[in-house]
Amino acid sequence: MTHPHQLHALRAAWTLHATRQHLDRAVAREAAERRAEARIIAAAAAIQAWRPIPGPAARGVHGDPASRAAVNVLEPEWRDGQLARLAGRTADLLRWLARNTDPRPDQDHPEPLHHLQRVATRLGPAGAWHLARWLDEADQRIRDTLHLDPPGTPLPGLRCPRCARRQLHAHTTGPRSSWTITCTPTCTCAGDTCPCRMPIRLADVPHVWGPDHPLTTSLTSAA
Ligand SMILES: [Zn+2]
Ligand SMILES: [Zn+2]
Repeated sequence: MTHPHQLHALRAAWTLHATRQHLDRAVAREAAERRAEARIIAAAAAIQAWRPIPGPAARGVHGDPASRAAVNVLEPEWRDGQLARLAGRTADLLRWLARNTDPRPDQDHPEPLHHLQRVATRLGPAGAWHLARWLDEADQRIRDTLHLDPPGTPLPGLRCPRCARRQLHAHTTGPRSSWTITCTPTCTCAGDTCPCRMPIRLADVPHVWGPDHPLTTSLTSAA
C-alpha cells in the first residue's frame, strides 16, 4: 500500500516534470528575445562607429577598425535572463535532491527528476514528505513566474468522499501508474475515522488517492 506522503511525492515529481516543460519553452523564447536585442544593440553600435566624425580635422575619417569589425558580429554575447537562471536553480535543486535520496554515495544522475519519480514511492513516509515539499515549492516558483494555473485537471463530476465538494483534481501528466487525485489542500484527513477511503488514513494530510484507487481507476474512461 502506498503511503499518502509517497503519493504526494509522486504527484509532485510528475507535476514538476510538466511545469519544467513550460519553463523550457519560456527559456527558449527568452533566449531568442535576448539574442535579438543583443544583435540590435551591436548593429546600432556598428552604425555609430561608421558615422563620419564631424570637424575639419576629421575629413571623413570613420570609426576605428575594431568598431568596424562589430558590423560582422552576428552572434553578440548576451547573458542568461531571469527564466534561464530559474531553470538553472531548479536543475541544481533536483540534482541535490537526487543525491540525497540515493543511498549510493556520489551517485551521478543524468536525469535527476526521473530518479526522483522512481524513488518517490520507495522512500520512507518522512523522506517522501520532505521530497514532496521541495518539489511542490520548486513547482510553485515556476508557476508564479510564468503565471500558470494551479496543477491538475478539475473533475467536476466527482464528489470528494470526505468533504462532498466537487473540487477534486486529477494529476495525469505522467504515465498511468503515476496518476493521482487530490481534493483542495485544506481538505485534510481525519485519520482512522475519516470516510475518505484512502487505504492509509493519516490525520492532517491533504487527501490524495493513488493510481490503484477506484476513484482514480474510474478516470480511465474519462481520460
Ligand atoms: Zn475533500
Ligand atoms: Zn481522510
